[in-house]
Amino acid sequence: MQRRLLDWYDAHAQPFPWRTARDPYAALVAAVCAQQTQMSRVLEVYGRWMAAFPTLAVLARADRAAVLQTWGRAGYPRRAVALQEAARRCMQEHGGALPRDAESLLALPGVGPFTAAIVRTFGFNDDAPAVDTNIVRLVGRLVFGDLQPARDTRRAEVEAATAALFPPGEGARWNPALMDFGARVCTPRPHCEVCVVASMCAARPRFAAGEVAQPVRAQATFEGSDRQTRGRVMQVLRDAADEPSGTDVALATLARRAGATTTEERARVRILLGRLAEEGLAWTDGRRAGLGQPPS
Ligand code: SF4
Repeated sequence: MQRRLLDWYDAHAQPFPWRTARDPYAALVAAVCAQQTQMSRVLEVYGRWMAAFPTLAVLARADRAAVLQTWGRAGYPRRAVALQEAARRCMQEHGGALPRDAESLLALPGVGPFTAAIVRTFGFNDDAPAVDTNIVRLVGRLVFGDLQPARDTRRAEVEAATAALFPPGEGARWNPALMDFGARVCTPRPHCEVCVVASMCAARPRFAAGEVAQPVRAQATFEGSDRQTRGRVMQVLRDAADEPSGTDVALATLARRAGATTTEERARVRILLGRLAEEGLAWTDGRRAGLGQPPS
């Protein structure tokens, strides 16, 4: 199974720069960008980010508004703030470099087990099994025979099985091999007919018999959601930061540009702006608002 999946990866590997750079910072940026974002969009934001903040030191001393501008429309901008906080922590506590051990990595803002494993394998070539949704699906099917492992198999069991399959010394190939195979072959509706490990797969007979994997959950409606309005507010603040005349905007203008037309919608914009301020993404003095932190 290891050989077949690694051979498949060698033939189909996507040439993402962070996979071969052996740069822990590049691996961190890519892993954080990939959280809740499709791979096709990760490359774009990763390239923009590395051009603006090529090192931990540059990122640590960057202006918060510039950090959020660079993150742009990639979504969930708290990730950008967490990246900068992690960079600052590395400058203060780790001599300006990312730590290598899992415990220290997990103590950094925005770094969970998957991101720590990616930093360790791509950045340091250490043995660290990563488990993302694609790997849960693939390993859960291969080992446990479940159609929809995210629902049917306990996460701890999938993680233990993933660790047991891990080929020592091959993490920088193995982790992306499983991720890519899960994303491209063992998809929610799997392509068993072209699968190189079909003969070893515990779920293959069930799919061959016509069973179908049910979706884990329906996608929450985006239209009209708080998430949509938050995105609009952030876009207005980024646009204001881009204008040569200033970096902030009056609250009435902000609400109008964010599409709020009723008293209720304007109140909602104010509430969401308050939350953005609490998260360090925006500031407001009750009359005006801006991106990042208030001007000193
Ligand atoms: S045989 Fe089908 S279900 Fe099993 S690993 Fe391959 S693609 Fe996934």
